Amino acid sequence: MNSEKAIALTFDDGPNLVTTPEVLDILEKYHIPASFFVCGNNIDAETAEVMRRAVKMGCEIQNHSRSHSDMTKMSLKDILDEIDFTSDAVEKAVGKRPEFFRPPYIAVNDLLFDNIDLTFIQGVGAEDYIDDISPEERFKRIIDQTKDGIIILLHDAKGNFRTVKAIDMIIPELIKDGYRFVTISGLFKEKNIVPKKGILYTNVFQEERYYH
Ligand SMILES: [Zn+2]
Repeated sequence: MNSEKAIALTFDDGPNLVTTPEVLDILEKYHIPASFFVCGNNIDAETAEVMRRAVKMGCEIQNHSRSHSDMTKMSLKDILDEIDFTSDAVEKAVGKRPEFFRPPYIAVNDLLFDNIDLTFIQGVGAEDYIDDISPEERFKRIIDQTKDGIIILLHDAKGNFRTVKAIDMIIPELIKDGYRFVTISGLFKEKNIVPKKGILYTNVFQEERYYH
């Protein structure tokens, strides 16, 4: 199993009632899981339902802060509030606490690394938050960067239909290339890698630390 090529598809900035369900429809079509890095402020009774649907499909819900602000400009108290609020809301909604964290804007500093007890995740992206980048260009950028152990970073922000279109091309292409889609925790497990503190992971084989 470990010789198989595996990757994790991840989505940031949800959950919402428009684009998150559209992404789930595509995942369902191909019978694959993904991991959703959610913002606590987007979680309410209705979007909690969407997250429960995702978990039932084998997806994971992870932490992308509460307010989606640059956390390198925050006090320790505010940093911990951002993390705890979201982890509490996710746990309440789906019964499982996040183990992974994607910092908003991938902005990090020592204070974040020293005090957030979650594995830090980055990933390869396609600037899919920019409307001018077509679904075809998003597809090309992701395909060009994909290799075994990689984490793919896309966005299920409300209205991002270009990424919904793009994943309907990306997923079958990568399946054809022999990749298996797993969750973010599944990717570490599958490769027998214990996530380390101080690394901002773009692929699970990465060893270089953010600071020394
Ligand atoms: Zn984000």
